[in-house]
Amino acid sequence: MSTPSANNPLFADLDVEIFPDHPIGQETWYAVGGHADMMLRPRTTEALSKIVRRCNESEVPLRILGSGANLLVADEGVGGIVLKLDHPHFREVSYNLEGAPELIRAMAGADMQKTMHETVKRGLGGLEQMAGIPASVGGAIRMNAGGAFGEIADSVHAVACLDRRGETVVYPREALKMDYRTTNLPDAPILWATFELKDRDPLNLRERMREIFLYKRKSQPMADKSAGCAFRNPTDPATGERVSAGMLIDRANLKGRSIGEAEVSERHGNFLVMRTGAGKATDLIRLIDVIKEEVSADSGIELQTEVVIWDRG
Ligand SMILES: Cc1cc2nc3c(=O)[nH]c(=O)nc-3n(C[C@H](O)[C@H](O)[C@H](O)COP(=O)(O)OP(=O)(O)OC[C@H]3O[C@@H](n4cnc5c(N)ncnc54)[C@H](O)[C@@H]3O)c2cc1C
Repeated sequence: MSTPSANNPLFADLDVEIFPDHPIGQETWYAVGGHADMMLRPRTTEALSKIVRRCNESEVPLRILGSGANLLVADEGVGGIVLKLDHPHFREVSYNLEGAPELIRAMAGADMQKTMHETVKRGLGGLEQMAGIPASVGGAIRMNAGGAFGEIADSVHAVACLDRRGETVVYPREALKMDYRTTNLPDAPILWATFELKDRDPLNLRERMREIFLYKRKSQPMADKSAGCAFRNPTDPATGERVSAGMLIDRANLKGRSIGEAEVSERHGNFLVMRTGAGKATDLIRLIDVIKEEVSADSGIELQTEVVIWDRG
């Protein structure tokens, strides 16, 4: 089935806001790209669970939009349903879970930066390596977001997803394989994650968080419209070692290269930025293709995108 119409009874009885023909491209950090045929904003887990089950039963494609910091929506937009989990219910963070001061649970729509700041204030260590990484908790888990100072996997205790019937399935840490920007989680909505943190001095944690943020700000164009690193750092087939995609892009003389309003950042070769709001997603997609071709010609290494691209394909 393609996208149901706005007054389709599929969701009419549910506690959900329905946004037909919604400009989701504008909800990403790039702020370019097209519309979703339909965006749904459930208000409860029960409504979310029923949406997931009904979409699967009716074979309606389902996508989850987090904070849009690693997402590029094609200009033609996307079909099916886009779920946005930003109702207050999906942003809740619970502390002192089961009486354990170091255990917290964050719903998938919780803001990663706000959650990190609150844990630091409470003297709970383990999320400060996320400083400067814009994300929802669900998006951070899906991408296993992180960098030189660690990744979210370091403190994950369990993750809950919804299966095709809309039932909650909990994956304990031991069942999770979280590697460089990937996880073994099924392609399903993440509902919440629990984190096992460490009792630490809040002042030390704040200082650490500040150091990590300043390091990022020095080397990356944080204020520009981007999706962070556009490409995964590849493994060099000659050495078996992971190499920096930014370094390969720099070596291929691509810094500053632009198509339309999309440009390879002069500050960091792996950041593709939108110079103005007048750009198109197509500019970025074409720039990505040019970079892949030229890096391959220069180094023999095939780059793969880290940024998730949504289109009608
Ligand atoms: C300035 C800047 C700096 C960045 N620096 C870093 C960095 O240092 N390290 C790093 O790893 N990343 C970095 N990024 C990329 C981005 O912050 C991360 O990938 C982040 O995890 C994306 O989270 P999100 O909520 O925005 O996800 P989105 O961009 O909305 O979505 C990304 C993917 O996650 C899926 N997803 C989102 N929520 C859910 C859910 N609840 N259930 C299932 N799937 C879901 C989406 O469907 C999509 O496939 C940066 C981005 C920017 C703009």
